[in-house]
Amino acid sequence: QVETPHQLLTHGLIENVLRPRSRFSHKGTFGHALLVGGSYGKMGAITMSAHAALRAGLGLLTVQVPTTGYTILQTAVPEAMVLTDAHEQHLSQFPEDLSKYQCLGIGPGLGQAEDSRLAMESLFRQKLPPLILDADALNLLASDRLLRQNLPANSILTPHPKEFERLTGPATDDFHRLQLLQSFCAEHDCYVILKGAHTCIGTPTEEFFFNTTGNPGMATGGTGDVLTGILTALRAQGYSPLETCQLGVYLHGLAGDIAAEVEGEASLIASDLYKYLGAAFRKIH
Ligand code: AMP
Ligand code: MG
Repeated sequence: QVETPHQLLTHGLIENVLRPRSRFSHKGTFGHALLVGGSYGKMGAITMSAHAALRAGLGLLTVQVPTTGYTILQTAVPEAMVLTDAHEQHLSQFPEDLSKYQCLGIGPGLGQAEDSRLAMESLFRQKLPPLILDADALNLLASDRLLRQNLPANSILTPHPKEFERLTGPATDDFHRLQLLQSFCAEHDCYVILKGAHTCIGTPTEEFFFNTTGNPGMATGGTGDVLTGILTALRAQGYSPLETCQLGVYLHGLAGDIAAEVEGEASLIASDLYKYLGAAFRKIH
C-alpha cells in the first residue's frame, strides 16, 4: 500500500479557520449568495439548502427555483429572496446579472432536463462568482464533456461515491478512488468533497483532508443538500475554497453529532443538521 499525503480535520485545525464576526458588521459584510435548484417534486432539497445557508452565517440569500417552487420557497424560508425561472418545472435559464453574488451554489433537486444542461453550458461561458456544484449539477457535468472542459477553476464539487463514479469512472478499490480524486482535482483545478462515512477533501495541490466528525445517523435523504447550503454560505463570506471545504465539512458533521446525541441516530433527519448548526459553531470557539 502506497502512502498518501493526508491530514485530519481536527478541532485544532478548524478553530484557526473560523473567523469571528466583527461587532461593526452589517448584512453586506457576510456576502450575498445565490442557490439554484429545485424541480417538480424535489423542492425539499433546495429548501433545506436555503435553510442551511442562512444558518451558516450568510448575509443575504437569493434562491432561484422553477415557478412551481415560488410559493413553497417564500413560505418555507421567509428570510430568503426568491427568483423564478421562466420554466414551470425545472431550470431553463440563470439570472443575467450574477455580479452581485459572492457565491453561486447549484444542484439540489435540480433534475437533469436538457434545458438545464444548456443553461449550464451558457453559464460556464460567462465570468462567474465562485461555484459550488452538487447533485444533478454534477450529473450534468458527468454527462457533458463541454461542461467539464469549461469548469471554472477553484470550483467546489460535492459528489457522493455514485456521483463521483459518474465523473471519473469506477475505482477498483479505496486507494484507486483516492488516485482518481487527486487526478480529477489536478486536471480541473478544483476541490472535490468526496462524501461518505469518511468524507475526503481533494485539492488541486494533491493534499487530502479526511473529516473526523459525523455519524451513520446522517445516512438519510437530504443531508448532502444541507452541506451544499453551508458551503455556499461560507464561500460567499469570503472563506477561500480550501477553508470553505474544511470548515463546511467539519461543521456539517459536528451538527450531525450533536443532533445524534439529542435526537438519536436512527431518528436524525436532514433538517436536524441546520437545527443544530448553531450549536456546532458554538463548539468551535
Ligand atoms: P448525500 O448522499 O448527497 O445526501 O450526502 C450524504 C451526506 O451524509 C454526506 O455529507 C455524507 O458525508 C454524510 N453521511 C452519509 N453517511 C454517513 C455515515 N455513515 N457517516 C457519516 N456521514 C455520513
Ligand atoms: Mg446529494
